[in-house]
Amino acid sequence: MSLDELYKEVILDHYRTPRNRGRLDPHDVKLERNNPLCGDELELYLNFDGEDLVGIAFEGKGCSISMASASMMTEKVKGLDVKQARAMAESTKRMMAGEEPGDINELGDLVSLKGVVKYPVRIKCALLGWNTLLEGLDEVP
Ligand code: ZN
Repeated sequence: MSLDELYKEVILDHYRTPRNRGRLDPHDVKLERNNPLCGDELELYLNFDGEDLVGIAFEGKGCSISMASASMMTEKVKGLDVKQARAMAESTKRMMAGEEPGDINELGDLVSLKGVVKYPVRIKCALLGWNTLLEGLDEVP
């Protein structure tokens, strides 16, 4: 299996079996964002304990890239503090901008998304969750 095929498998696995899918009730922050270029829709729920992101879940519909990226994101940032979560989002955005190769030790499954860097329209799909998260992190109660 080539690396490209492996990455495709990882994306499809998150798309078919999304992690942390659903709503958080109660929640501290709820954001609804979409990506009109592709039609992706995302609802993101966040719960904080002080500066720690103790709960994160998402609902939505859209392409496999947007939903898989949101699933991977919830897995990576759950339990981090706001600063760490923001750093993870910035690392992912740099990888998706082609500025960094993406460190598998830091980003884990997220490196499977870097094949998308070649397709500018899909980058917005991959970053929908992350841009929504960054907005949500600004709303720490
Ligand atoms: Zn999309």
